[in-house]
Amino acid sequence: MESLTEQEIRAAFVNCTKGEAKRLAVPRDLAERPWEDLDYLGWRDPQAPDRAYLVTVLDGRPRAVQLRAGARGFSQTRKSMCSMCLTTHSGGVSLMVAPKAGKAGQQGNSVGAYICDDLACSLYVRGKRDAGAGARLHETLTLEEKVQRTVTNLTAFVAKVLGS
Ligand SMILES: [Zn+2]
Repeated sequence: MESLTEQEIRAAFVNCTKGEAKRLAVPRDLAERPWEDLDYLGWRDPQAPDRAYLVTVLDGRPRAVQLRAGARGFSQTRKSMCSMCLTTHSGGVSLMVAPKAGKAGQQGNSVGAYICDDLACSLYVRGKRDAGAGARLHETLTLEEKVQRTVTNLTAFVAKVLGS
């Protein structure tokens, strides 16, 4: 994806108030992020580890989502799979819950998905980060197809948050 500035990211939030978007923690090292290898940028609030965020570009428009991260994995021995990038981790996948945008969110509706704890799906898909033996299925798909699948999953998730 194209790199984004802090202002662009703050302006892109779809499921929190303008005030929250202004105050929430955005990484300070945006310039050093490997944007060309990212389908989305995800991060956690270092002050509040149960708060996670992701930003991606849909139809040429940045869209950012705030998430609540549940307990880490289920247990350290049980393997679970990320629903975005289909990487299997031992205890490295969290249930992330996003309030829906607009009225639906104010009424308490939310969308949940199991996502890599460190929100680094793009790097796992590209083999730039290692999740350990057996983490990635052997597939005949090309890298491009795997990236496309991750983007499709992510797009579907963000679309649900937007309520479309
Ligand atoms: Zn993932």
